[in-house]
Amino acid sequence: MPKNYDVIIIGGGAAGLMAASVCAKRGKETLLLEANKNLGKKILISGGGRCNFTNLFASNDNFLCQNPHFFKSALKRYSPYEFLDLVESYGIEYVEKAAGQLFCKTSAREIVNMLESECKKYNAEIILNCSAQRISKDGETFSVTTATDTYESKNLILATGGLPIAQIGGNDFGLKIAKEFGLSITSVEPALVPYKLSESLLKKTSLLSGVALPVRIFNDKISFNEDLLFTHKGLSGPAILQISLYWNAGESVSIDFLPSIEIDNLMSYRRSHPKRSIDTFLKNNLPKKFVEYWCKRESLSLTDNLADYSNESLTKIITDLKSFTVTPPGTEGYRKAEVMRGGVSTDELSSKTLESKKVQGLYFIGEVVDVTGQLGGFNFQWAWASAHAAGLSIT
Ligand SMILES: Cc1cc2nc3c(=O)[nH]c(=O)nc-3n(C[C@H](O)[C@H](O)[C@H](O)COP(=O)(O)OP(=O)(O)OC[C@H]3O[C@@H](n4cnc5c(N)ncnc54)[C@H](O)[C@@H]3O)c2cc1C
Repeated sequence: MPKNYDVIIIGGGAAGLMAASVCAKRGKETLLLEANKNLGKKILISGGGRCNFTNLFASNDNFLCQNPHFFKSALKRYSPYEFLDLVESYGIEYVEKAAGQLFCKTSAREIVNMLESECKKYNAEIILNCSAQRISKDGETFSVTTATDTYESKNLILATGGLPIAQIGGNDFGLKIAKEFGLSITSVEPALVPYKLSESLLKKTSLLSGVALPVRIFNDKISFNEDLLFTHKGLSGPAILQISLYWNAGESVSIDFLPSIEIDNLMSYRRSHPKRSIDTFLKNNLPKKFVEYWCKRESLSLTDNLADYSNESLTKIITDLKSFTVTPPGTEGYRKAEVMRGGVSTDELSSKTLESKKVQGLYFIGEVVDVTGQLGGFNFQWAWASAHAAGLSIT
């Protein structure tokens, strides 16, 4: 007879490790199964290897979900400061990069080690290289079948993440299991992901590859002031990743390349420098390569004095730079996405515990759920908070 655990957690990523430690700490017989040979592979590559592990200013506006109230309860009950207390208790040094975004000072490895230590301290059993293949429920008992064994439990937590980055374990296992148990799924898309550009636009912008500049990026849903990066495939950088969360195929996005400049700035520059050309003004405010591209694109004269331009033509130059619109033909997909938008429908889950309303003892946490955070440490905060909520409710 296989041992009957209080809880089996599938997935040893951010949410799974946190859930295992919470359950084990509460004295529950806990088993964590991870398909990879190491724990927390996504944590290790996150934040450029330094893991932006939370955001002190996390608020409801930083999360996207079909039910905009669903995530509030779990996030409220496990704040960024609670995770920070844990980080500090392990003596892990961290830095605040942008407002509220906390990164490890040395390495994301410290976060994985900390979570693993918490699991071991409270005797959670961990099996690596162990991919759950099938799940069934008979009466009150879940059976998890792997290539070699079957494990049983009273409760089952799916913390299998989403589709991004298949080479380190991204897959649709959690979505498939949800469907098998009759739970609905919202449509899923790669998000926090770079855009591709059309071949013709790419040809023109190829010289800009590697150029980064601060922009305001916006559509009819939201706007962000962040950096944009031109790449050899298209557009990336925090501005693009952020807006991609609020973008659907076929939609356009607008970019203000001069977020801190208005027409008045150019007019007063003309008054004090009437003999300078437009590209001198632009080069004071934008990267040189970008100005060269833009002046060529707009056929702007580099020799005319600013004094020779009409007010209307100067206004048009600024307006065009402040409202460039592009319709990306697509994104770089799950290979480059930081997260999956969408997932197990929150209609199916208790917002307090993340337990399925239909199947007693079945929980979904972390990225597999239809709750997605913006760039900036919010996705890990959701992983920790949803895991904490589920972990506390395991009986
Ligand atoms: C490049 C990159 C950088 C990122 N940087 C940040 C950042 O700095 N800050 C931030 O907040 N977010 C960041 N994210 C997003 C963040 O990593 C995810 O939101 C988070 O890891 C989700 O946690 P999770 O536990 O739900 O899923 P994951 O961390 O993906 O863990 C799921 C685990 O389940 C395992 N698994 C899947 N199927 C099975 C199975 N059948 N059997 C056993 N195990 C299985 C997988 O191998 C994996 O280890 C980044 C993502 C990427 C790709």
